[in-house]
Amino acid sequence: MGEFELIRHYFAAAACARAGGDVVLGIGDDCALLAVPPGEQLAISTDSLTAGVHFPDPCDPYSLGQRALAVSTSDLAGMGATPIGFTLALTLPSVDSNWLAEFTRGLDAMAAGCDMRLIGGDTTRGPLSMTLTVFGRVPAGEALLRSGAQPGDLLCVGGALGDAAGALPIVLGEREAETVEAGALLRRYWSPQPQLALGQALRGKATAALDISDGLLADCNHIATASSVSLVIEQAWVPLSDSLVRFAGTEQALQCALGGGDDYLLAFTLPADALPTMQSEGWPVHVIGHVEVGEGVRLVDADGRSVGIGHPGYNHFTN
Ligand code: ADP
Ligand code: MG
Repeated sequence: MGEFELIRHYFAAAACARAGGDVVLGIGDDCALLAVPPGEQLAISTDSLTAGVHFPDPCDPYSLGQRALAVSTSDLAGMGATPIGFTLALTLPSVDSNWLAEFTRGLDAMAAGCDMRLIGGDTTRGPLSMTLTVFGRVPAGEALLRSGAQPGDLLCVGGALGDAAGALPIVLGEREAETVEAGALLRRYWSPQPQLALGQALRGKATAALDISDGLLADCNHIATASSVSLVIEQAWVPLSDSLVRFAGTEQALQCALGGGDDYLLAFTLPADALPTMQSEGWPVHVIGHVEVGEGVRLVDADGRSVGIGHPGYNHFTN
């Protein structure tokens, strides 16, 4: 099967490749065409995933398709953007029809949940890797930036942290997936759910936001730096799932939540008066600390004493 047949058979034919919404023209021409409504801005982000670095090789192609699109789309959630579509630049070692069918089925499943459309891409031969570029839209001036946190704001996250990091030893084959808990953690690793609705609900409310990909401490540090403030995290308030605590133990669970990464949940700063409405509307808002004058991130225990920060989060060039 040649390049063009492959594109036609697997990508152009995928359910997620149908034009619609803000996609005027999808796969098949030199460019896709998007219609951004007047008064809105285009939000764009790119993520590359390389076999052996971002996912184990081999791995289940359905899960990989889901995860690749989820981690990319999560950046749109972090900006409060509404998804439009994505491109897929895929490098494959060979044409394996079962792999391609399962991979696109995984993409389709995640695309349906995120209201995303495949609008184009590129297909080349080489060691397995992929680059996804996501496009979204946001009312002009309302995108959630990292730079607006104010002293006095609450620091919040969108859910229990550390599950995906807890699953990593199973993903890497270092530990058996023997328990029910392991299944729950693996789902959080392979199929994270970008918090798109929460991000959109936070527009005009949160003063700063991002999606947690490198670990809570590292990502909070990005907000602290961009906003020129200090973020104080109450260690005891960091939400942990029962599955993670049972699987990894309390101490290790906390380390996964603080430094693990791969959560793809939102972290944001919120003026205190915005909290009651968000909570009464049922949004998953967990207060874990506050914003102060100063710089950097400080982790404190129940008595307000600073706790040493061990693992600073993932960095491709220093780890
Ligand atoms: P060009 O040579 O003009 O760059 P290509 O031959 O690479 O175009 O691609 C033909 C069409 O197929 C384009 O619309 C491109 O966006 C799309 N395409 C190529 N690879 C993929 C892919 N992996 N997923 C989705 N669309 C793809
Ligand atoms: Mg091309």
